[in-house]
Amino acid sequence: MAGYSETIERLISELGKLPGIGPRSAERVAFYLLKAEQDDAFALADAIRDVKINIRACSLCFNLAEGELCNICADPRRDKSTICVVEQPKDLLALESTGAYRGVYHVLMGHVAPMEGIEPEDLTIAALVERVRAGQIEEVLLATNPDVAGDGTSLHVASALEGTGVKITRLARGLPAGGQIEYANKSILTDAITQRRKM
Ligand SMILES: [Zn+2]
Repeated sequence: MAGYSETIERLISELGKLPGIGPRSAERVAFYLLKAEQDDAFALADAIRDVKINIRACSLCFNLAEGELCNICADPRRDKSTICVVEQPKDLLALESTGAYRGVYHVLMGHVAPMEGIEPEDLTIAALVERVRAGQIEEVLLATNPDVAGDGTSLHVASALEGTGVKITRLARGLPAGGQIEYANKSILTDAITQRRKM
């Protein structure tokens, strides 16, 4: 990519850091932006800036939030006695899209993966235990991915909750083993939630 000015090189290099964007795609997007209307390009820049400034982790469940609490934790109609534990905000969105679940959530911010250096202490498990100990929680529904890492993570969460007396359930196995929640279709997810079983 020799020959581009420093400013264009910088844009291509920044775009190339995005997931799924190789050097050729980064170049194509850079030229799209060069040709775009100034307002459109600035709208993109503003959206990136705003999301970094305004979006934070919900202080209760670690879902993405615009304020102290996310929309779900702040919603008085949600059943606060049931917590659904997911690995990442994308899984929460997939489960929400089913409309089959009326409880609240807890986002672990990943899964246990010792080979990648991710230990149980790196997740939000301690905060979950605190929530269960503090409140009127009756059920914790474990909705980690039905793969090795997800299953292992659920075992860690279940053992951390031991002694709290809370009922622990797991998504039913309509979900294909080794699959990922964010890619599962709505009817499979609905079955998985409504037919959840005790762990
Ligand atoms: Zn929340």
